[in-house]
Parts: sequence; structure tokens; C-alpha cells
Amino acid sequence: MYNAITVDVEEWFQVSRLRRRYRPEQWPKLESRVVENVSRVLVLFQEYQVQATFFIVGWVAERYPEIVYAIYEQGHEIASHGYQHQLVYEQSPAEFARDLRKSIDVLESIIDEPIKAFRAPSFSITSKTLWAFEILKENGIEVDSSVFPVKHDLYGQLACPSQFFKIQVPNKGFLTECPVATLTIWGKRFPIGGGGHLRAYPFRLIEEGIRALNAKQIPAVIYFHPWELDPFFPKVNTSIFSTILQHHGLYNTENKIRRLLNRFNFTSLRDLVKLSEIKDYWPTW
Ligand SMILES: [Zn+2]
Repeated sequence: MYNAITVDVEEWFQVSRLRRRYRPEQWPKLESRVVENVSRVLVLFQEYQVQATFFIVGWVAERYPEIVYAIYEQGHEIASHGYQHQLVYEQSPAEFARDLRKSIDVLESIIDEPIKAFRAPSFSITSKTLWAFEILKENGIEVDSSVFPVKHDLYGQLACPSQFFKIQVPNKGFLTECPVATLTIWGKRFPIGGGGHLRAYPFRLIEEGIRALNAKQIPAVIYFHPWELDPFFPKVNTSIFSTILQHHGLYNTENKIRRLLNRFNFTSLRDLVKLSEIKDYWPTW
């Protein structure tokens, strides 16, 4: 069966943990690594003949439209990761709507095709920001991957289903939600789908986790950032905790992704949703 591989395209200095250290006004002065890192990801996917979904920060797309076009030309799905990589729960509904619209406009001006998928920075759609689903739907988004149904200091903590489900948006139909892969052990959900967990966990654990999900006919959604394949990205002098989280396992990430691509079938969320029969509904209102 197929699983989904997704990439959150952002600069190393845009990660949510650094949002108070590097303000958007400072971004233009910092060393950009994104073009080189995305190129590395594209070569990797070409080697394995894999299609993926790329959630791209609008700020990056505006500065480097050529990488958006290069991703698109290889047949991957282009999706929004917001314009300025702001956490949803740190914005008002109006600010979120503006930021989302701007990101979609930038991407659609480059590829001339409607943007239909979205992922909130750091999976920041929570029980307090359910209004975001309505705004997504109003802006043409059909597939969302903004919830990470586990306990985490930045992520959503939503008590929603852990596999693909439909969200009913009042008077506007449905949105398909695709949470990142989690594994339930002794009634507790563990994230296995990406980011720091992909870097920190032993490969066997992730492999067995995906196999366990697939055995139940549940596809796994995996994600990573292009900077996670870049062992040379600038060292950030921040708290020890954040430094460990950000740098742990960087040398090994490409190797782990290669092993995943070798062992499992992956495609974009766009194609995986088409292949999936979605039975779960999640009433939020
Ligand atoms: Zn992000």
C-alpha cells in the first residue's frame, strides 16, 4: 500500500522554536540555505522516482520562485505552509486568513494551478483554533495536514482520529484531514511521522511503526524539512534543549529517508487521498 511523504519547505531560521530569536524583519539578513537543501531533496526523490507533497512557506516562494517551479516540474504537489510561518494559535482569525491568502496567491502566481492542500506551522491547529478549518475551506483548501494528535509543547494536542478523516465545515462541505503518523501503544499515541522524532528514534522503530499501521490498512504520513538533510546549517546559540532538538541526528536523516524510500511505497497526499476510502468523520461543531 501507499504512504505519503511530505516536505515542509522553510528556512532553518523560520522554525517555530526560533520564532522569538529571529523576527521576520531579520530574515533577509540571515544565511539562506533553502535553495541548496530543496535541490538535495529533489535529487533524492528523483532517484527513487517518488512523488511528494511540498508545503511551502510563502515568504520562501516569493524570494525563490525558481525552486517552487522546479518542485512543480518534477510532478510533486505544491501546497501552502502559510506565508510567514506563524503559529495559528498566535494569530487572530483575520490575521490567519490574510497570511493564508497571501501564501496561496504567491504559489498560484508561480504555478498557475489551484493550491488545495495546507499544513499549519508546527501543526498549530488546536481545540482553540478550530475556526481555522472554515477559513481554509473558504480559500479553496480541500486537504489539511495541520493536526498532530499527540501531546507536545508546540503541537496541536487535538483529541481527533489518528488516521485520515473528514471534518464537516458548516455550510461549506467537508475538508479531508491527514494527520502525521502516530502509533498507539498501551493506549498512548506516539509520533513516528517525522521531524525530531524521525531524527531521534532508531530506524527500526519507525519501520516497525509504519508496518504496524499498514497492516491495519492505515497509510502513514511522513514529514521532514529540507534543513534536516543539511549537516552544515548554521549552529544556533539558543537553549541547550532546543539545540539538541534541532541538531540531533542531522547526519543520519538522509540515510533514514533513503531507507524508508527503499522499504515502503510513497506518494503525494493528493494521490493518497484519491486512493483512500475515508470513513471517519470528526464533528467539531
Ligand atoms: Zn514549518
